[in-house]
Amino acid sequence: MLIGIDDTDSRERYCTTYIGMLLMEELGKRYKMDTPKLIRMNPMVKYKTRGNGGVSLRVMEDEKKLTENDIDYIKKTVINLVEKYSDFECENTNPGIVFLSEKNYRKNKEILKNYYKKVLYDIITVDYAKKIINKIGGEYIIYKKGHGIIGALGSISSVAPYTYELLAYRKKENWGTKRIIDDKSVVEMDKKTIPFTFNNVDGEKQIIAPNTKCPVLYGIRGIKKDILLDAMKMVKCEEIDKYMIYKTNQGTDVNLRYMKIKDIYPNTGVIIYGTVVNNPKDIAGGIVVFEVEDNTGKITCVAYEPTKDFRNIVRKLRKGDIVGVYGTVREEPFEINIEKLKILKLSKEYIKDKKCSCGGTLKSRGVKSGYVCNKCGKKIKYNEIKLIEVKRDIKEGFYEVPPSARRHLSKPLILF
Ligand code: ATP
Repeated sequence: MLIGIDDTDSRERYCTTYIGMLLMEELGKRYKMDTPKLIRMNPMVKYKTRGNGGVSLRVMEDEKKLTENDIDYIKKTVINLVEKYSDFECENTNPGIVFLSEKNYRKNKEILKNYYKKVLYDIITVDYAKKIINKIGGEYIIYKKGHGIIGALGSISSVAPYTYELLAYRKKENWGTKRIIDDKSVVEMDKKTIPFTFNNVDGEKQIIAPNTKCPVLYGIRGIKKDILLDAMKMVKCEEIDKYMIYKTNQGTDVNLRYMKIKDIYPNTGVIIYGTVVNNPKDIAGGIVVFEVEDNTGKITCVAYEPTKDFRNIVRKLRKGDIVGVYGTVREEPFEINIEKLKILKLSKEYIKDKKCSCGGTLKSRGVKSGYVCNKCGKKIKYNEIKLIEVKRDIKEGFYEVPPSARRHLSKPLILF
């Protein structure tokens, strides 16, 4: 039996993964449980609390089928905990639960796979999720507007690739207080476990702790469960209450698709290849912009202020460079928010050689009169002046925004 849960928390309290962990404990007393999943969906969804994540669990039935009593017990346990740990007072919290039998899960793999793509690439409605749940013989429970069923089914429907996240939870009496985590120990842990863990630090600062008042103390992301357990032991921090390792789609880029520019639409994730149309410009707010074109159209690409030094790479692009741009598409203004930049081919850049053979300087007198030396009076036609190739101070290669500016779903270069 599969159980999906989403949209239970607010920025003020709780976390859907906490309910998932409590359910793993409770249901694990009676049943064999699969690794729980924390699945991120389209990051362009407007009413997300943080990272648009939905949780799902699977009660394994390989040895014994569930009876009506079992199913009843499981449903009641899920409903009780969702009702106990949902922030119903928050306007933006609209919990949803989805139940799906093992039989219907196996029978509808294709429909679920397509739903997973849709929930990653597009913005969908509660009605659409209801339609799919009915079609595959699932059951849903809706609270308030019930947005949560979208992500609850999204989590159930996910397929590989996966990574893992170890979530450590705080003692209840500490919820809402300042988290105690020793930055240095996280930096050390990062050095010792990389590349099997990722996005732990930005420079000398740990970035494994959330900023909200939720029960999570920290989350360590990685690609091997046993290394996550070692990493947990290396982090010096306040006393941990409980922990859980989730299977996730974080750090996989599964929300991005190769697209031709003419096919791009708002609120989706893309990878495009094209030529830089103009030299990048700095605009208000620390934003750097440039345009890219392919054989179907042109689109603006943007690096925002939080991407910090990454903007220095972007600033060095020049007209004619051939690049791949990875990112999500904003609606207004319609542009790509760059997450990664692949510089495939640098164009050649030239400057005019204004040094005359006599040692003087060639001064421009306009397109018609060309250049005249200020020392010996030698004349050169405007378009006959010698050009010198400038060495570009950037290399072809793959570049990414700093860890603190990365989306949960962004695949860090270290995992390529
Ligand atoms: P947390 O990570 O703390 O659980 P969150 O960032 O996941 O919070 P939610 O509170 O879960 O945010 O809100 C996101 C809402 O968006 C959920 O109701 C979820 O069902 C819904 N949702 C997920 N994917 C889509 C999508 N592609 N289109 C429309 N709604 C979606």
